[in-house]
Amino acid sequence: MGGKRFSGWGLPSGDLFLAAGPCSAESEEQVLETARALADSGIGFFRAGIWKPRTRPGGFEGVGAPGLAWMAKAREATGLKIGTEVAEPAHVEACLEQGVDLVWIGARTTTSPFAVQALAEALRGTGLPVLVKNPMSADIGLWIGALERLANAGLDRLGAIHRGVGSSLEMRYRNAPAWRMPIELMRRMPDLPILCDPSHIAGRADLVPAIAQEAMDLLFDGLMVEVHPEPPRALSDAAQQLTPTRFLEMVARLVRPSESSDSVDFAKQLGALRESVDEIDGQLLELLGRRMEVVREMGRIKTEQNVSTLQPHRWQEILQDRVRRGEALSMSADFVQQLMQSIHEEAIRQQEIRRVDGAQ
Ligand code: PEP
Ligand code: MN
Repeated sequence: MGGKRFSGWGLPSGDLFLAAGPCSAESEEQVLETARALADSGIGFFRAGIWKPRTRPGGFEGVGAPGLAWMAKAREATGLKIGTEVAEPAHVEACLEQGVDLVWIGARTTTSPFAVQALAEALRGTGLPVLVKNPMSADIGLWIGALERLANAGLDRLGAIHRGVGSSLEMRYRNAPAWRMPIELMRRMPDLPILCDPSHIAGRADLVPAIAQEAMDLLFDGLMVEVHPEPPRALSDAAQQLTPTRFLEMVARLVRPSESSDSVDFAKQLGALRESVDEIDGQLLELLGRRMEVVREMGRIKTEQNVSTLQPHRWQEILQDRVRRGEALSMSADFVQQLMQSIHEEAIRQQEIRRVDGAQ
């Protein structure tokens, strides 16, 4: 379990695979200072962004190739392996020149199969370990597709990094954790090592440890964390970077649960609770089936009267009412909204089947 899936990568991997370092390399001093502070932390590699593809132009866009030379110096000084993000073939070339130990593909790049294919060609034959961040949108196909393009180019040390996805909803975090995505990736590619990037999910330093712990509870193999010696002065992502001290404190506090337990009592209790869950799920599905029956009948009478399937005012009322009731039952507004949206979408589909069939 855990970091063992990184064995064979030629990188230090304790039980937990950790990557840490600044969002961006900013100066030789900053790179060296951060790497020195992390030298004995047991991390698998020291990260720093060299080319920073920001969502919008005008911000700090990275120091470029000279930053790689600073990272190589940091490796010499500390013995830490080094890794950075590549977004185009020229970046791969520059990394190869400095003997970078690992590269990753950023969330913006994973979104484009053209860009990923170009990187796969540039990486072909290098044998470099490559990590792929999930795309900006919640499209697991693009994530898996990128991993497949790299595998097809003969790269066999591949891993994934989950960094959450952007959302238009107002929320606590910079990026929605969207845990269902990495959970689905683990189900489909059980041998693929997968890290969590709590920094980009959180967007705020004080929220990073809780997300890192959640990743442990979800059996991630490790973490990639942004660490800066003076976060408020960082040129990019200042709000979410931890100081080296806070990073080490966080790592020391992480609890790593295992997937199972030998306790007989526990197995009994869990078995009974699972039976309850199975039964409740059965009831839920039956209820949903009944709801759909009613909905189909509504579809029938709407068709008769030439009334539209979508009833915007009614839908607005339902959503507000169910979110309020869900909150009273300790469920998040986000969850209830998504649940009701799924149910509503299926209800519309069922009404439309009738309409389209009836029209034939
Ligand atoms: C980064 O790791 O600094 C970065 C730019 O992340 P992402 O691609 O997840 O936005
Ligand atoms: Mn960053």
